[in-house]
Amino acid sequence: MNLFTPINKISKIGPVYENKLKKLGIETIHDLLYHFPHRYEDFSDLIPIKRIELNKLCTIKGKILAIENSKTYKKKMTITEAIVQDSSGVIKAVWFQQPYLIKTLKKNQVVFLSGKAILKRGDIFLSSPVYEKISQKLIHTGNLVPVYPETEGLSSRWLRMILKSVLNNAKGKIPEIVPKEILKEKNFLGVEKALWQIHFPSSKKQAEKAKERFSFEHLFLIQLTVLKERMKIAQEKSVPIPINLKFIKRLVSSLSFKLTDAQKKSAWQILKDMEKPFPMNRLLEGDVGSGKTIVATLAILNAIKAKQQAAFMVPTEILAKQHFKGVFDILKNFKLDVGILTGKEDKFYSKKLKNDYIEISRKKLLEKTEKGEIDLLIGTHALIQDKVKFKNLALVILDEQHRFGVKQRAKLCQRKKIIPHLLSMTATPIPRTLALTIYGDLDLSLVDEIPKGRKKVITEIVKDRKKTYSFIKKEIKKGRQAFVICPRIEEKENDNSSWSETKAVKKEYEILSEKIFPEFEVEMIHGKLSSKEKGKIMENFKRRKIDIIVSTSVVEVGIDIPNATVMMIEGAERFGLAQLHQFRGRVGRGRFQSYCFLLTSPNAKKSYKRLKILKESENGFILAEKDLELRGPGEFSGTRQWGIPDLTMQALNDLPLIEETREKAKELLKKDFHFKNYPLLKQRLKDFQENIHLE
Ligand code: ADP
Ligand code: MG
Repeated sequence: MNLFTPINKISKIGPVYENKLKKLGIETIHDLLYHFPHRYEDFSDLIPIKRIELNKLCTIKGKILAIENSKTYKKKMTITEAIVQDSSGVIKAVWFQQPYLIKTLKKNQVVFLSGKAILKRGDIFLSSPVYEKISQKLIHTGNLVPVYPETEGLSSRWLRMILKSVLNNAKGKIPEIVPKEILKEKNFLGVEKALWQIHFPSSKKQAEKAKERFSFEHLFLIQLTVLKERMKIAQEKSVPIPINLKFIKRLVSSLSFKLTDAQKKSAWQILKDMEKPFPMNRLLEGDVGSGKTIVATLAILNAIKAKQQAAFMVPTEILAKQHFKGVFDILKNFKLDVGILTGKEDKFYSKKLKNDYIEISRKKLLEKTEKGEIDLLIGTHALIQDKVKFKNLALVILDEQHRFGVKQRAKLCQRKKIIPHLLSMTATPIPRTLALTIYGDLDLSLVDEIPKGRKKVITEIVKDRKKTYSFIKKEIKKGRQAFVICPRIEEKENDNSSWSETKAVKKEYEILSEKIFPEFEVEMIHGKLSSKEKGKIMENFKRRKIDIIVSTSVVEVGIDIPNATVMMIEGAERFGLAQLHQFRGRVGRGRFQSYCFLLTSPNAKKSYKRLKILKESENGFILAEKDLELRGPGEFSGTRQWGIPDLTMQALNDLPLIEETREKAKELLKKDFHFKNYPLLKQRLKDFQENIHLE
């Protein structure tokens, strides 16, 4: 047996359990050992039965006076009820759907029970408490019993049993991957001891020590992965693009506004990067409306004037069209060929024309791109299809990059020898903790300054819907426009299709267009519309032929309609702060006072605190930090699917630890880039990279 032995080789694990474990991502002995408890039941903290308080976690020790199964009247569920007594009193314990319990827990046995007492139909009982028989030696020595995240059919009890036997069998076979010198310096527990202590701690302190070690270990692996990637990139080749000051200046002076200092500084950092013979890998981070597009456009112009091609990829078709028109507008005096490639029907192309663009076939557009006749190709994911070939692509821009996966990015940059410079842009500020870990292979430029003269958007958590509607009416009569955003209706738990989102929008659209705002032009936008339809609606909105747009979250990013002054968000509690801030950023872009109304469903009282933060802060950076605090890194950046264990997720909030692991990883890579002296670490890293998917 070794650590990578599949779990079905463990004698106690048959196909049923194998499948259940696989659902948790546990396939090997290693995975199993690293499946850590999320808390411990403390059986040393006993209280007498008569001191049990409702709804509070407690542990008691008592004798079972009686235990029996019964069926609910609907005959669907088995209930196991036990009466437990200690010297102070008696309480009932109830378990659901565990008929086999009566085979384990018997009359007259003394047990520990740990759980919450609840009151239901006048009856007080411990609801599904964790149990431990006194007669059997408590698993391992101490009084702390591990509790694992619950999954259907996999009890903590079962996991404890399996883990104990696996740990016993693994004695001496668990490779230590943390370098010895670090173990020594940090006084960490060795891997085997740490595994025992994290699963079956002899004291809280030991459990903490074990956690410390594994937090370090995980962050260390992340740092090694990311830093190694960074160093690898520095060894690749790119086309060095000299800074063409003449054109840059000409572009800057053609603008109707003055660049902010933050824009100038970021642009300079980007241009400096592009001068180098190895690829830029930079993230341009700036709040909504901070003016990232123009910064990117400067880089684009610079690349094109060096006779190179540029690609500009965005997450939605609407945004692609907007950028096409916007960038085209900015660059029209420079005689460039700009094409757009999105859904099947798009084939615009500007042919060195000053004020307009013409339509060519998609085939032609691809041909021209391959021949190098298109200077800049703007588009959605369509850009990464194999059919799309560039002659000399030297710069890739990804707008709203947090919405792209690493694979798409890699694919767009895929080249045999020459790698394009990469600039990603995002309005979702990345907290420093994440910037130093999972985003650590990127250089950062900040546009941390909003152009002067913008009015602050007034944000309200709405109590009176009617008032809001009449307010919107007034705004529209003044000539302004409004957005209404609907979250998807989550009818079924796993239904994350755009279907239910579409349904919500259709319903809202009917109500608004027929009942609330019959006198106005109301339109809807959702994922089921074709790109042409969406484009047309946005175009009409821009031309003020439409007063109100009811939409799914597709308007979230990038859309620029300065005349819109109202953003009304239904079910606001469903969205993260960063996302709400994005929605809010759709208004307040012109000279009019703008408003953001947050509506919540009646049972969303808890989210009030969160929404209040949004009301009080207009700073995307603060909001991102708060989001991280309140929802954790997984929810924050949609990184649940990265396969990072909870413990690491917690460690991702720990800035000092992050900085330390980063230093240690740097040191090690400097000393031994290929891990010649650390074969076990090398092996583990390989496995880690296969199983973890950093965005
Ligand atoms: P974002 O950073 O959210 O992508 P955009 O690039 O779309 O922002 O810019 C938002 C708006 O601000 C655009 O209409 C743009 O023309 C304008 N803008 C950009 N930079 C400045 C500036 N320095 N002064 C005034 N307006 C600016
Ligand atoms: Mg933008």
